[in-house]
Amino acid sequence: MELPLRLSPSRISDFNNCPQHYKYRVVDQLPEPPSIDAERGTLVHTVLHDLFESPAAERTPETAIGLLPSRWLDQLEAKPDLAKIVTNEKEWLDRASALLQVYFQLEDPSKFEATHREIHLENNLSEKLYLHGYVDRLDVAPTGEVRIIDYKTGKSPKPGWEEKALFQLRVYALLYWKNHGVLTRLLQLIYLGDGKVVRSQPTIADLESTEKMLLQIARDLEASYEKDYWPTKTSRLCDWCHFKTICPAHNS
Ligand code: SF4
Repeated sequence: MELPLRLSPSRISDFNNCPQHYKYRVVDQLPEPPSIDAERGTLVHTVLHDLFESPAAERTPETAIGLLPSRWLDQLEAKPDLAKIVTNEKEWLDRASALLQVYFQLEDPSKFEATHREIHLENNLSEKLYLHGYVDRLDVAPTGEVRIIDYKTGKSPKPGWEEKALFQLRVYALLYWKNHGVLTRLLQLIYLGDGKVVRSQPTIADLESTEKMLLQIARDLEASYEKDYWPTKTSRLCDWCHFKTICPAHNS
């Protein structure tokens, strides 16, 4: 294991959700087939990213939907195997188009400028932990207030699970605070799958407790690497886990 550990919020969630899953994915680097939901998410994210290159008045549903075919061709060119999982292209583009229409019910992108899109945030939280991640959008208002936005193409979490869902954005807010000394005013998860938005106003205490949690996870991970100890942790996520067929928790 090389120190510092280089972690993103999604890798940290992998480890938290199931250390064995983290091992298959990060330590063993076992291949995983493309996921149709993840690829749809990539396409919609690309369009929402590129939409802000148009002048404000042109950021309309028609412009966004008009970007879909060319962005899809780019995606396909980069990953030709996608043609095997996207067998009905019209249905595929219609579904992406429906998600974009939901976006316009939740926000009007002609009314603001996106200061940063896909901004890379990074920080060495300790000698042992380098933390980084790409933020979908980070807006800085003329007043200096910051909001961090993440688009999700799935459905919003069930009541009671919002805090867990906000973990990734809290990590970004922590990185921004560490790097710029500015407390993010608003975290916003935009769920296009069901048209809901989860919002939170982080406090410094929230960010400090996120930092403590991250440092503890880094210690746990270091111990796992040292002892080569990767326990399984079964949950509903097992139903989506590509490694279920080789996982000891399901094959004893
Ligand atoms: S099937 Fe479940 S327990 Fe096994 S690795 Fe995947 S998430 Fe972990």
